[in-house]
Amino acid sequence: MKKRRKTRQIKVGNVTIGGNAPIVVQSMTTTHPKDIKKTVDQILRLEKTGCEIIRIAIPDDDAIKSLPIIKKSIHIPIIGDIHFNSELAIKAVKAGIDGIRINPGNTSKKQIEEFVKFARQYQIAIRIGVNSGSLEKDILKKFGRPSPEAMVESALRAIDIFEKLKYDNIKISLKSSNVLDTIKAHQILAKKGDWPFHIGVTEAGPSLISAVKSSLGIGRLLMDGIGDTVRVSVTGDPIIEMKIVYEILRSLGLRKRGIELISCPTCGRCKVNLIKITQEVEKKLENIITPLKVAVMGCVVNGPGEAKEADIGIACGLKSGVLFKKGKAIRRIEEKNLVKELVKEVNKMAKYASQK
Ligand code: SF4
Repeated sequence: MKKRRKTRQIKVGNVTIGGNAPIVVQSMTTTHPKDIKKTVDQILRLEKTGCEIIRIAIPDDDAIKSLPIIKKSIHIPIIGDIHFNSELAIKAVKAGIDGIRINPGNTSKKQIEEFVKFARQYQIAIRIGVNSGSLEKDILKKFGRPSPEAMVESALRAIDIFEKLKYDNIKISLKSSNVLDTIKAHQILAKKGDWPFHIGVTEAGPSLISAVKSSLGIGRLLMDGIGDTVRVSVTGDPIIEMKIVYEILRSLGLRKRGIELISCPTCGRCKVNLIKITQEVEKKLENIITPLKVAVMGCVVNGPGEAKEADIGIACGLKSGVLFKKGKAIRRIEEKNLVKELVKEVNKMAKYASQK
């Protein structure tokens, strides 16, 4: 792991991004904001699973009307995602959003200037969100394809507009669905300034594909010390984004939240239905915030060892399992009661840890 890149700090609502602040986790709603109930429900679910900033697409005036009600119903800052339209961006700020994402590929210099003139009094954070799929035409022509260098040029052009206007409350993202291009673009731009980076691999696909691409792209950047706020992109329920992002952050020792589930792949030695047991345990523990390591192991070969290393765990045998807590074997439990008993003990442990 390289030392984290030194970046300037900015604020999105009450959340600090950059400098030595913890890496901030964000997501985006999949609903149209005019469906206030669905949007609020989704954000509240995301909050519970660790989302710290939420981005909402603002495609039209209907979305603007919903913003004040949505804002009152949730507890995390809102970033408005707006394309092509500085007028809509101004209305969104008036409606109470805390930050805005603009895409330099489809926002003109004049639109940026108009918006900044207005945004200055609110000092709202602006993300210059470069996307390889919507680069400026002249940049695409110059580089021949949406290469890392092309993305960097797009970002630098927009940064220059903001810097000339002396508006430094900005962060940058350089997103591509190509993992290697994403990594390289950030590595190039990181050498040119101290802007905080919002990192992620865009259009990363359904959950499994996204987990792999995001782990490689985001993981590599974080290991290089690059990245101040993260969004994993998943085609599906955004709650899955939270699971992937926290697993990446936990694996790199950068954030700890919730249950780290250690489970074996099972093999011919296993005498219980470990896959079913593990799936049930995972589901039943998904709302726990306290960081705990829970092991669910199939047999006596590696089971006792892993279960002992975990805060709590079970090592299974013939139609039963032994419960281990902080390295000590506590009791043997019949297979049919394994999930119930393990979940009960984990909940107890989480409650105790949160009261300490
Ligand atoms: S812990 Fe036991 S059951 Fe699980 S994979 Fe290893 S040897 Fe097989």
